[in-house]
Amino acid sequence: MSDPKVIIALDTSDPNQALEFSKRVSPELCKLKVGKELFTSAGPHLVESLVNQGFDVFLDLKFHDIPHTVKQAVYAATQLGIWMVNVHALGGEAMLSAAREGADMAGRRPFLIAVTILTSMSDRDLQQIGVNQTVSEQVARLAQLSLDSGLDGLVCSALEARILREKFGPSALLVTPGIRPEGASADDQQRIMTPHQAMLEGSNYLVIGRPITQSQDPTQALVEINQSLV
Ligand code: C5P
Repeated sequence: MSDPKVIIALDTSDPNQALEFSKRVSPELCKLKVGKELFTSAGPHLVESLVNQGFDVFLDLKFHDIPHTVKQAVYAATQLGIWMVNVHALGGEAMLSAAREGADMAGRRPFLIAVTILTSMSDRDLQQIGVNQTVSEQVARLAQLSLDSGLDGLVCSALEARILREKFGPSALLVTPGIRPEGASADDQQRIMTPHQAMLEGSNYLVIGRPITQSQDPTQALVEINQSLV
């Protein structure tokens, strides 16, 4: 598989556990996601060692700061050899454009995507922070702003993928968490979709954690998911 669609979320604070897990799967079959928990405890060297093993790494740090800081942080991320990095669209147009500039400063630019509204937030949460629009209106608005500012795509729920795909066409990258194979435990995810269905809805890449990381045989779980996509 030349461009694996599954991005495995390495949600642990233990660098040894993350490295051991990475040895049990292959870069031919998956990409890996390093988020705030693992990055904060294990640091950039862990990211580099995953990259050196041949993995495409999605650095999920959701940068959100003043434009200059985000530009420099995205550039610093590119120096680790990552495949994808993300920022919060709520940082606004200047921050989003600065993020793109930071990515462009790299020899080989990683994909740069935006988080719109966190899926943990409800319409009521938005009202509490003074945003008098629904979550879906805000998602659409921030998605447009992100793509207009030069970002490659969006992190979104698979349940939003079809609408975003229809609105933004084939070139927007859509990366979707909340994925559960048929029969798998939902864990704490509220709104889930199977890998196959998420691809049909227009996802490009699927973020999947526990159904693979907690499996007795992660490679087998991964192979089954990959087979379900074709
Ligand atoms: O184990 P599970 O498949 O639920 O892991 C999903 C991953 O995707 C986690 O790293 C989680 O933080 C991330 N994520 C999510 N929902 C979002 C954004 C990110 O589950 N809306």
